[in-house]
Amino acid sequence: MLPSVIIVSSEAVPFSKTGGLADVSGALAVALKRAGCKAALFLPFYRETALGGFEIENTGLTVKAPLAGRVITAEVLRTSHEGVPVYFIRCDEFFDRTYLYGTPERDYFDNLERFTFFSRGVIEALKARGFAPDIIHCNDWQTGLVPACIKDIYGLDPHFTNTKTVFTIHNIAYQGIFPQNGFFALTGLSERLYASDGMEFWGKLSLLKAGLVYSDAITTVSRTYSEEIQTIESGCGLDGVLRERKAVLHGVLNGVDYDEWNPETDKLIPTNFSVRFMSGKAECRKALLKEFGLKAKVSTPVIAMITRLAEQKGFDILLDAMSKLMDADVALLILGSGEARYRLLLEEAALRYPKKLSVKIAFDKRLAHLVEAGADIFLMPSRYEPCGLNQIYSLKYGTIPIVRATGGLEDTVKDYSIGKGTGFKFKDYSANALIDKVSEACSVFKDKKEWGALQKRAMSEEFSWERAAGEYIGIYQTIVGSTPKT
Ligand code: ADP
Repeated sequence: MLPSVIIVSSEAVPFSKTGGLADVSGALAVALKRAGCKAALFLPFYRETALGGFEIENTGLTVKAPLAGRVITAEVLRTSHEGVPVYFIRCDEFFDRTYLYGTPERDYFDNLERFTFFSRGVIEALKARGFAPDIIHCNDWQTGLVPACIKDIYGLDPHFTNTKTVFTIHNIAYQGIFPQNGFFALTGLSERLYASDGMEFWGKLSLLKAGLVYSDAITTVSRTYSEEIQTIESGCGLDGVLRERKAVLHGVLNGVDYDEWNPETDKLIPTNFSVRFMSGKAECRKALLKEFGLKAKVSTPVIAMITRLAEQKGFDILLDAMSKLMDADVALLILGSGEARYRLLLEEAALRYPKKLSVKIAFDKRLAHLVEAGADIFLMPSRYEPCGLNQIYSLKYGTIPIVRATGGLEDTVKDYSIGKGTGFKFKDYSANALIDKVSEACSVFKDKKEWGALQKRAMSEEFSWERAAGEYIGIYQTIVGSTPKT
């Protein structure tokens, strides 16, 4: 029998999104269902969800959880997405806000309360609803307390005797770290969990570490990243914990939702196209240049980025490389949102090179599809990248990726050499390495025959959720029925 699975996430497409976590949580639940698992998804009920026009019903259930001397109550709402039941924990005090985790300037001050409550609320909702799943699959620090609660607070609860937890790291740099002073008590967990072999992290408490220590299996979103995070350089202080838990750590490369990201059927682009009929791509290119207010000859490559504005995404080397890049015969356009400091630097650069660089500060789904469809080259110079999704979308749209060879970028892009490969990879995290790769890609771009063949190879690549769901099910099956960890 296939395991029954609850996916717990702080965001999921189509209900809420700040990044790749949302694409993955939404698509994985659907893929598990398609593979034959009983699967359901649990999310917070944000303002974004409330305003999204979804048909959501109230189950009539309310759940309560203690929090810092108060008892907080939430409603449990329900809808269905592609046949997967989706439950929302509705507590407006915590989730009816403009942003999911914080403003562009800073995180919300009460994130510990918000996600402690969400974690407890999900577990209480499972009990109230009479669900005793084989697997609770948690994602990132926001849900790191779920495995800790299942082992500690609910350790003797017969409802969860046969329930195992899986914890997926989508990005180890985001750890949910909070000061200890009085805050640990807020979680409701036993004092003994605040220890160096528990969730203590350099005198503070780490929700990510809680997920890593108390889950029955750990996964991350590419094989290369699963190795990188076990090193001092890339483990963000948790490499030792991960080396200790190496036996239960797996790298499962994300899939892509080709119902959403497919140039043949994409409803958000002006003209559809396919590997055999590429003329539509030229139309999308024209529309893209118009939308970004740039002009470029057919022979000038249009290079694009869609990105969170965060240090991880390589802005320091990009900005260092900018003046040399702008000397080349290219047009560069960037769609991004996030940290104010990068916004200012990019906007400043766009003022310096108005004819060749255009920056749009927005989080805009339609534009993201247009960029994928219309650009010639997709640039991802990430310092690190757990999996990365845009380079995979780019492959399908014949938008050739130039990536830094790290994490999932290493695992999904095959380096170009004449007649081979699907993109361009550089190893050194430096402006020079980036410039060298861009100029190599630009010179291949001038050879229309070679570029067309490269696009054809890229567009034939498949990163299906079916394969990823199969790997997850294999991992679930290894822990279901195994003896509980003490
Ligand atoms: P991360 O999760 O680190 O941000 P990923 O590449 O894994 O990076 O996923 C990013 C997801 O968010 C992709 O689906 C991408 O299209 C989307 N995205 C990022 N920035 C924007 C933006 N400014 N507008 C629209 N979509 C965006």
